[in-house]
Amino acid sequence: MRVIDKFFINGEWATPNGTNTIDVINPANASVYGRIPQGTAADVNSAVAAAKAAFPSWSKTPTAERSALIRAIALKMQERIPEIAETIVAEQGSPIGFASQVQAGLPSLVMESFADYTFEMDHVEQVDHSMVVREAIGVCGLIVPWNYPLQLLVTKVAPALAAGCTIVIKPSEVTPFNAFMLAEIVHAAGLPPGVLNLVTGYGADVGEALCRHPDVDMISFTGSTAIGKRILAMGADDVKRVCVELGGKSATVVLEDADITAAMTGNVVQVMSNSGQTCFALSRVFVPASRYDDAVAAAKAVAESLVVGDPSNEATQIGPLVSLAQRERVLGYIAKGIQEGARMVTGGGDMPEELRQGFYVKPTVFADVRNDMVIAREEIFGPVICLIPYNTVDEAVAMANDSPYGLAASVWSADTDKAVAVSRRLIAGQVFINDAEFNMRAPFGGFKQSGNGRELGSEGLREYFELKAIHMPTASA
Ligand code: NAD
Repeated sequence: MRVIDKFFINGEWATPNGTNTIDVINPANASVYGRIPQGTAADVNSAVAAAKAAFPSWSKTPTAERSALIRAIALKMQERIPEIAETIVAEQGSPIGFASQVQAGLPSLVMESFADYTFEMDHVEQVDHSMVVREAIGVCGLIVPWNYPLQLLVTKVAPALAAGCTIVIKPSEVTPFNAFMLAEIVHAAGLPPGVLNLVTGYGADVGEALCRHPDVDMISFTGSTAIGKRILAMGADDVKRVCVELGGKSATVVLEDADITAAMTGNVVQVMSNSGQTCFALSRVFVPASRYDDAVAAAKAVAESLVVGDPSNEATQIGPLVSLAQRERVLGYIAKGIQEGARMVTGGGDMPEELRQGFYVKPTVFADVRNDMVIAREEIFGPVICLIPYNTVDEAVAMANDSPYGLAASVWSADTDKAVAVSRRLIAGQVFINDAEFNMRAPFGGFKQSGNGRELGSEGLREYFELKAIHMPTASA
């Protein structure tokens, strides 16, 4: 069993103040994969004190040095991709192929991209007789969920380091080992003590202690909208900067002229990847009524073709959900959909004998869904897709926008101009046209209850600095 009994604080492996531990469960078979310390407010205090002490020097370190360290961290991450991927397979359940490419590979590229963005901190804007300069905001508390644990962590750590901030990380207690590996990597790369600190534990104690700490200048949180609202309220006490990347119920609009098979293949695969545990899963699909039957048949065929199984097997495309609680939650939504009158054309939780130990759910397609049903309004966070017919594009756009969320959307059409025109009408932080790829240099974030602020690329750096206007005496004064 993988056991870690220390936190990473002030450049050292520090003994926790308490003795309680948390078991980490392998979702493929419900066995105990590892054990980590359950932190307390006292551990958070030590970590924040280390980050506060490291800030003056790190924030004044020349950008060329910070950039070189970020690049060194990225290289060490790349060297450890296979090991990181295996870790995420065991703690999170992502299939090994997906884990290697997305869960372990992508974060190293994101880290590397910020070696370039670091130099944007040197930018000085001249506004009449004033210089506007950029300064690191201070100590940042970074809190992340379990679905893309390292990617979401690096999306915060990289810009924070680039800006000159110091950091206290609180990973999800469900998937903590990748964060310990990141701490090992930054240590090996020579990041100065106190610049990055790591404490594990539950949200209610470690998370809240971090959010309420008076020496934490900023919280960046990715997770559920419910917890995000609570974090925003906690930050209000001392007017912290609070950036939140939250849930979604993203929509696809398939236009009349689209290639239905391509649209359904792309969309079903996007939703089912990572077992539907993707914040921007395009889980509501609006299809022209005239092409609805073809779309349902195509979606069913794609869902049934996906290989569900042991995530450590190279052939597996869909692994288990992350936890028993998550499986039960998803099955609850499937039951609710059936009860509300939607038609489950394939899927459900009835698994073959060899997969019954793990937390699996089959790729599930619902037809005849109405946009006011619970399964079309709430984030399921599982391998479930809802197909909704429409008669006019105006009606499709109105339904797509009728959601408390606004994280992502997609539009399928043979005509790119038409697709862009519809994209401009959708309330979403990013819109994918046809099978467009994710872009780690473009801003990522949501409208409405999907969050406030943007991560990745140049925009992602902005969250971590303050602007200072220095007004120069004018010659005539
Ligand atoms: P969660 O909100 O339960 O937990 C996220 C993190 O917050 C965990 O580390 C948890 O320990 C911590 N936490 C919990 N309660 C806390 C509290 N009171 N104070 C401080 N911290 C607390 O989310 P989850 O179940 O881990 O992840 C799934 C959710 O994350 C989904 O809603 C998904 O949409 C969202 N998500 C959003 C994005 C995005 O970029 N918009 C990306 C990935 C996931």
